[in-house]
Amino acid sequence: MAILPIITAPSPKLKAISGEVERVDDDVRRLLDDMLETMYAAPGIGLTAIQVGVPRRAIVIDLGREAQPAGPLFLVNPEIAWSSEELLEREEGCLSLPDQYADVIRPSEVKIGYLDYDNVRREIHADQILSTCIQHEMDHLDGILFVDRLSAVKRNIIVRKLAKARRQARYATA
Ligand SMILES: [Zn+2]
Repeated sequence: MAILPIITAPSPKLKAISGEVERVDDDVRRLLDDMLETMYAAPGIGLTAIQVGVPRRAIVIDLGREAQPAGPLFLVNPEIAWSSEELLEREEGCLSLPDQYADVIRPSEVKIGYLDYDNVRREIHADQILSTCIQHEMDHLDGILFVDRLSAVKRNIIVRKLAKARRQARYATA
């Protein structure tokens, strides 16, 4: 396994629409393993392939030991089969937007169809933080960041903060 560099915003790659995975074979499993190690090292609770520069519809999630389901969840070619009318507002962060957090409103529950680590088609019904996390990661597959779901005012504040942090990092290493 290997820890891969995570792409941070702004980057045109993060706006790319990822392509379907044909089948979950050993190459895809290697990618999923590397993504999981990269996510644990960050640390984070979710990561998509495009965040490590691979435009494929693959997601890894691990909400920790207390969560249901416990342990890592691998979602390949996920599709929303159903989403609740009820909405939920929850604070989100993103490994591609370091140190930035904002409240995002999404459907509170979703049902997802996907291929698992063994190329088996499965369904999962998610609520609470898992629902938020899955929807956040699925957005990445279509080039959408959580800041794209905020008002223009809130989004601009975060974009300016990121640009400032990047300038300061450049001076620090110059
Ligand atoms: Zn993210």
